[in-house]
Amino acid sequence: MKLIIGLDGANPDLKLPEGTRWESESFGDPPHTGPNWLSIYTGVSPEVHGVTDGGWLLEHKGYSSLPVTGIFDVLENWVSLWMPMTSEVPEKPGCGCLRGFPTTRGGWGIYRCSLPVDSVGLNGAKWHLKRSDPEWQESLFQLEKAHLEWAVTHYGALSQIDTLFYGSTILDRAGHGSKVLDCEFYHRAERFAESLVDRLLDHFQPDDWLVCSDHGFEDAPGCPRHSKVGLCAMKGRQQVLSKMSIIGTNQALCDMLGIETGKPIERTPEEPENIKSQLESLGYL
Ligand SMILES: [Zn+2]
Ligand SMILES: [Zn+2]
Repeated sequence: MKLIIGLDGANPDLKLPEGTRWESESFGDPPHTGPNWLSIYTGVSPEVHGVTDGGWLLEHKGYSSLPVTGIFDVLENWVSLWMPMTSEVPEKPGCGCLRGFPTTRGGWGIYRCSLPVDSVGLNGAKWHLKRSDPEWQESLFQLEKAHLEWAVTHYGALSQIDTLFYGSTILDRAGHGSKVLDCEFYHRAERFAESLVDRLLDHFQPDDWLVCSDHGFEDAPGCPRHSKVGLCAMKGRQQVLSKMSIIGTNQALCDMLGIETGKPIERTPEEPENIKSQLESLGYL
């Protein structure tokens, strides 16, 4: 199995296990989550893939409007857990995104990521609270832990697939929720992200792995903001490239997976699902 761990907002100083650290200098200014992840997935710049703003929220363009192929189009037999950091991924037999939010559908390959953030966690537990809630910080860690436990518990089923994506936004949420980066909350999120990587590598024992981020964080007057420097680390790379671009992250990923992305593609626009009524019918709203 090949394992790709996407850590939204991870800085290059994250302590990762064996593997080569690459700094990745993104080209967005300010570096946005949606455009950068889609460049990682497609290997083309935001001007070409067309997602130039937030990009992964419902009201913005998402994967279904990309004019070029990305890794989710090209690969077979993949599963993405919790969040591939884009609003939708194409539905393919044997592939899918498991999101941790209630859906009337079930089974591999038919879950879709449709909500911008986890509003309802596993089993309908309400993990994701408003930032003003005193339990907010703790709820972030609880949700992340619940997701991780689910993944390692379902090791048998997940180990059958060729490529597993595991996305986490704990660092991004902690970064935005901190007044300065050098604070206990953010550092706790960093330690959590490090332990997440360790645990996933330990459990899945992947043949190849890659850890990447879309941007990092830096201090700015008022509160931390996205920085242009993120990270890309993978097993077994001999060559050290510094100041690699976000496109370079795609190339490293494609090398590892043995695929090519960024080819023109015709997509038929789909009718967006009415998520609100779906949640209502399930009794969550
Ligand atoms: Zn981000
Ligand atoms: Zn952010």
